[in-house]
Amino acid sequence: MSLGGPEQDVSGARPASRPAPRRADAGTPGGFPAPAPEDPIPFRFEPGGFLLVLSGPSGAGKGTLVERLVAARPECVFSISATTRPKRPNEADGVQYEFVTPAEFERRRSAGLFLEWAEVHEHLYATPARFVDEQVRAGRVVVLDVDVQGGASVRRARRDAVSVFIYPPSIDALRQRLLKRNTDAAGVVETRLRNAPGELAEWREYDYLVMNDDLEQAVARLTAIVDAECARVRRLHPRS
Ligand code: ADP
Ligand code: 5GP
Repeated sequence: MSLGGPEQDVSGARPASRPAPRRADAGTPGGFPAPAPEDPIPFRFEPGGFLLVLSGPSGAGKGTLVERLVAARPECVFSISATTRPKRPNEADGVQYEFVTPAEFERRRSAGLFLEWAEVHEHLYATPARFVDEQVRAGRVVVLDVDVQGGASVRRARRDAVSVFIYPPSIDALRQRLLKRNTDAAGVVETRLRNAPGELAEWREYDYLVMNDDLEQAVARLTAIVDAECARVRRLHPRS
């Protein structure tokens, strides 16, 4: 079938009018270097692991989106941070966070066990370096839920990281969500809402923005980002 252009030559012979490839090593009709005869042609490709950094103000829906993403994509694994913040009633140690004392946090920080750390809403939070690096080496997409300071540190430390800003539809929606979540005292909610405009101002630093208004659309957008990043040619390893 012709699509309106000149008839295509599918025989592999070069039409007389087309210039010959300039590369001395070009050994195929299209000008591509010929593979060495011992290299099998790959028909399976696996992406290498990488970090997926999610940031956004408290109540934007990061935790909810992480849960949905990890359930939808087996290659995604959540990195459990260490924090000095008090545990909420609906949380378990070692699930959402590892809850540690300020002394233990300082011990790990000075021993160089953190990829990054920051003070956020009056508490300390940190990403464990070893878990993250082991999982990336094993080919996983390691999902980090970190504040905008952590996002900047990770982008500096791991150039290959993919960063996504989770954006709420309004400040009022943030307030409603934090009140409905009912995990923080009124004063804590107010601190978080006060910090939200400064955090929102950082969205341009990220690779992607996901608007979390309709949850299902936000989940679809986030999984599409992960799928596209997993298809990047530079991440792919041929498997025979
Ligand atoms: P974060 O981790 O960013 O602080 P959460 O994931 O805990 O935010 O979400 C805050 C609250 O908002 C939770 O109660 C969650 O169920 C709710 N929520 C998350 N996404 C949406 C959405 N798109 N629409 C309405 N409520 C949402
Ligand atoms: P929360 O107390 O609501 O779970 O989290 C408060 C803030 O801390 C959120 O912005 C969250 O992204 C951030 N946070 C959680 N873990 C880490 C971490 O390991 N490092 C940094 N820098 N921030 C984190």
